[in-house]
Amino acid sequence: MPARLQDKTSACLDRVMRALTTRIGMYAVLGALLVACVIAAVQSHVVVRGLEETSALVKDNRLSQSRLATLDILNLTLLSSRAEMDGRFSPENARTFEEVTERLVMRVDRISDTQGDASLYSIKNTAMLVLHRLLKVSRDATAAGYPDLDALAEEVDRTGHASMSYLRSFLEVNEEQSHLALEAQLDAAKRQQTAAMITPVFLTLFGGLVLILLRREILERRALIKAERHIEYLAYFDAMTNLPNRAQFTEKIEVLLKESCCVALLYIDLDDFKGINDTFGHAAGDAVLCHVGKILQRYAEKADGFAARLGGDEFAVVVPDNNIDRLMGLCDGILADVGQPFIHEHELIEPGLSIGLATTTQINAHARTTLDMLSRVTDFALYESKDNGRRRVTVYDQDMEQRFRDRRSMLEELPLAIENGDLLVYLQPKVTLSNGVIFGFEALVRWNRNGAIVSPGDFIGLAEESGLVIDIDSYVLNRATELVSDWNQENDTRFSVSVNLSAHHFTSSRVLERVEDALWQSRLPSDLLILEITETVEMRDWDQASRVILGLKDQGVKIAIDDFGAGFSSLAYLRAIMAHELKIDRTLVDELETSEKARVLLRSVLDIAHNLDLEVTVEGIETPEQADIVYKLGAEQGQGYLYGRPEPALDMLAKATKVQKAKTA
Ligand code: C2E
Ligand code: MG
Ligand code: MG
Repeated sequence: MPARLQDKTSACLDRVMRALTTRIGMYAVLGALLVACVIAAVQSHVVVRGLEETSALVKDNRLSQSRLATLDILNLTLLSSRAEMDGRFSPENARTFEEVTERLVMRVDRISDTQGDASLYSIKNTAMLVLHRLLKVSRDATAAGYPDLDALAEEVDRTGHASMSYLRSFLEVNEEQSHLALEAQLDAAKRQQTAAMITPVFLTLFGGLVLILLRREILERRALIKAERHIEYLAYFDAMTNLPNRAQFTEKIEVLLKESCCVALLYIDLDDFKGINDTFGHAAGDAVLCHVGKILQRYAEKADGFAARLGGDEFAVVVPDNNIDRLMGLCDGILADVGQPFIHEHELIEPGLSIGLATTTQINAHARTTLDMLSRVTDFALYESKDNGRRRVTVYDQDMEQRFRDRRSMLEELPLAIENGDLLVYLQPKVTLSNGVIFGFEALVRWNRNGAIVSPGDFIGLAEESGLVIDIDSYVLNRATELVSDWNQENDTRFSVSVNLSAHHFTSSRVLERVEDALWQSRLPSDLLILEITETVEMRDWDQASRVILGLKDQGVKIAIDDFGAGFSSLAYLRAIMAHELKIDRTLVDELETSEKARVLLRSVLDIAHNLDLEVTVEGIETPEQADIVYKLGAEQGQGYLYGRPEPALDMLAKATKVQKAKTA
């Protein structure tokens, strides 16, 4: 059979089987079989009834009686004709004899007519045979001038008797035969009836059984096909977001890398996805993944590429393009859309993404780039995005690998640095803007790494990722409070100290003990300790965070909200924390001199802060002009290179004391 026809036939068969094996199909087939069964039963019943009636007739001897009546009539007629012949048979009476036989014929005719039974034809024929023989004898006798009436009579008698016995035996045999035939027919009909009853029932049951088995088989086959398809789907798609999974991503990008020399790869990680899960629950986490997946797919498709979920909170976007400006536009769009507040079951979630971006042309402009190469450098870019504060895109550059290696080795060395006392506390002054007097310091950590001083920007991110930040903060807290307290006691000063606390502290209450210990050990008055916290996703478990903050306030320490305006802050957060101080990020200060908009923005923030009874410290003041504007806009406190860069604690304390004494002298 040609393949196409075979396909068509099997498709057709499949359709029929499907139709048959639906419940309705099965009921229809079984119904049809049952109807056929009933019709066959009724038909065979009718046949049997007919045969039974006939058989009853035979049994009642009604037929044989009628036949016997016929015989009697014949017999009588023959006897009478013999009497006639006996008495008056002569050649002259031949005519009369003929008349008699004709009468007899007529009577026989009448008998058969009145009986109206086809089976009597045989009787009639036999009678006719006898009559004709008689007639012939009479004619022959007449013709031959038969003189011996006795002989004739004997002849007739013998012939008549022979005929009669023949007739009788014929009828008996016939009757018996017909009776037997009828019985046989009846038996056959009964057997047929039984068959007619049993066969369709059997067929129906058998057909039903076959259909049930067939249906089970087909359903199982369909379930198997469905399961196979599902397995196939799972092998290539991520079931939650419906995006291609890592396997499909690998296949697709490898094809693209073979076909095109301009491919961009974006590795995308959700910022603090664990925090979202812990704070809002796993259902919310799943919803965020789906939401982000849709956004990525939309942007990828717009750029003729595709998005994939590589696992956990890791995504990828692949685009056949190497124009960095266009790609940055795409990344900015993604960051903006994902950054939009997302509501899940009345909870407001603000997911953030870190993106690493690399193109094949950046790596290897002339030869073919492998997925391994592209993937590796894109990973570096992604790590850097995360380290640099997240919610950002980083484009791969050549030095990244070195920086990445440095970071890895830093991460390995950092625990030892804490143990060996290689972490240093630097202090940066905080001043009252009206008179420039230093009233306190911010403690900023530095790492003396083999003689080179490393800024916190290079390792705090790593420390946060690894959890080491808790130990670093504890160290700085103890050291800073000790240094400032000792200095205050020894020099009769009352400097305050601000210590940065990572949001990691707010997921447990252990920070309360740590702060209490630091105050107790250093004997610094608690109102001289300010704890700076930055809003991050970890802080969104408000219940937990506010429990910790209340505990800290109970100890008499002050709370400052750090880096306000740097992109993470929200008014809800401001209200919920009820801090003492608001530190305005230097990004709001940078453009103060040139931008009216920046001034309006700063004024609004100051208004809000004052309405909430917050002291305001403006960070990053570098020029007297900035200081002037900030002061005029209503800020009370300032911090920045204008008043002093961060310096080793004792140097800064000495310097500040000197300046303060000079100012107050
Ligand atoms: P921060 O808490 O906002 O600290 C202020 C940062 O701004 C400091 O950077 C400081 O040197 C810098 N700065 C101050 N005035 C100026 C200025 O006029 N111009 C410019 N360009 N920069 C200025 P640093 O010391 O590099 O610290 C960076 C960040 O690292 C800190 O930002 C803080 O978030 C974090 N950090 C520092 N020490 C610690 C620590 O002990 N624990 C934790 N968890 N984070 C820390
Ligand atoms: Mg700070
Ligand atoms: Mg700050």
